[in-house]
Amino acid sequence: MDTSSFTRRGFLKAVGLGAALLAAPQVGIASRRPRRRPNILFIMSDDHAAHAIGVYGSRLAKVAPTANIDRLAKEGILLENVFCTNSICVPSRASILTGQYSQKNGALDLGGRLEPENQHLPRLMRQAGYITAMIGKWHLKVEPAAFDYYNVLPGQGKYFDPVLREKGEPWGKNEKKYTGHSSDVIADLSIEWLKGRDKTKPFFLMHHFKAPHDMFQNAPRFDNFLEDVEIPEPKSLWRQPTYGSEATKGMGTSISPRNKRRNMGKHMGVDQSLPYKEYTHQAYQRYLKRYLRCVKGVDENIGRLLDCLKTEGILDDTIIMYTSDQGMMLGEHDYIDKRWMYEESLRMPFLVRWPKMIKAGSRSDEIINNTDFAATILDLAGARRPDYMHGRSFARILAGKTPGDWPKSTYYRYWMHMAHHDNPAHFGVRTKEYKLMFFYGQNYKRGGPKPTRPGWELYDMKKDPHEMNNIYGNPKYAKVVKELKADLLRLRKKYEETDEKYPHIQKVIDEYWDK
Ligand code: CA
Repeated sequence: MDTSSFTRRGFLKAVGLGAALLAAPQVGIASRRPRRRPNILFIMSDDHAAHAIGVYGSRLAKVAPTANIDRLAKEGILLENVFCTNSICVPSRASILTGQYSQKNGALDLGGRLEPENQHLPRLMRQAGYITAMIGKWHLKVEPAAFDYYNVLPGQGKYFDPVLREKGEPWGKNEKKYTGHSSDVIADLSIEWLKGRDKTKPFFLMHHFKAPHDMFQNAPRFDNFLEDVEIPEPKSLWRQPTYGSEATKGMGTSISPRNKRRNMGKHMGVDQSLPYKEYTHQAYQRYLKRYLRCVKGVDENIGRLLDCLKTEGILDDTIIMYTSDQGMMLGEHDYIDKRWMYEESLRMPFLVRWPKMIKAGSRSDEIINNTDFAATILDLAGARRPDYMHGRSFARILAGKTPGDWPKSTYYRYWMHMAHHDNPAHFGVRTKEYKLMFFYGQNYKRGGPKPTRPGWELYDMKKDPHEMNNIYGNPKYAKVVKELKADLLRLRKKYEETDEKYPHIQKVIDEYWDK
């Protein structure tokens, strides 16, 4: 039994529907729900890091404010510690839709897919009496058939003049080309759907932008945005003598020319003959400007969605959530891309506006992860979380009341050893105070990239929020490490994330567990 679930009484009280409904005879599921359940608009971007959102208050907040996204926090809640369980597009989306960790839902890496029978969230929302729709970037390969309506990009989709597949004709034969930038097109489609929706039922709309995923192509109207601005650089782009371990030294795609095969300077067409410092500076500035111009387009279109809800007269009857499928390294530790368990990649932005339940300007630092989203959305819709979901509802946290038994830690795992961006495979645990990571450095499928050196890293997240000092091996933290390792074992077992199927990985874990 999910003891964190938002009780029927609490839900009714929160939406201002009181005793009359509670006193009504409870003969079936329908009669136990209030008559007007909230609409749910779930907005997700691709690779939009929390530190590229104004209200999260990072070094970028002043140069690249996000007024519309910030509004959700100012009129709702900002969650500080929402983390993904596998920081890459397909697996994160699969965890959101199933409420399950990667091994359970089968989407370990970018090859993952989600068959209609496993599209649990839309299927259960539909069963709960909601009209369900999915518009924008889907990325789970097979048809999003569990939704009443969809209009989605095939695969990654294109930034300009995108083709989308709309429910109706058979999957693959249902393509139509649109004119314009993908963020504008996807917002146009959602607005059109909202205006024409069946108004007799509440809706659950998943609106997914493609931006600001690479290749970071912005709409032409933002070409001059930030042109004459110097984007603040993170300290760790330049100097980080006590960061990392033997397992991570020299790894990852860089901003600087450090990674000769793949670095952002090459990606951005920086003059290869420039000295290290100037090359790195130019690569960072070009990368951040292009990325933030894409973010600007997302933010502007969120403003359009909010305006549409207002015009429709349903702004306060709609729970609006904003998140991204994971974070993104924006030059921290001289890295680009996601995949890492380091903060900027691990953290997901998460903001929710619903004035009928959520106090304006509230914040929470409870540890939440993307397997919790489905349970929460179902709970807010008045539906029950099925036992096959790992995640728990955080609806009570949104209302300012954390359940007493809420988890204190979250498990993470990245599987795609040395694929694309040269990140070694790893797993770890994050609490409010610490982060412990084990880089086992093996591909899960035999015959993939060669193993890399294993190693542990520990960071004190309170004293060292930018993860500049790896304190693993410092005797002062021996007790902390012992406790975190015990927690890791517990979480791996609980969430069916052990390595019985991968004995070559288990061998490395056994050998290095106490090192
Ligand atoms: Ca992504």
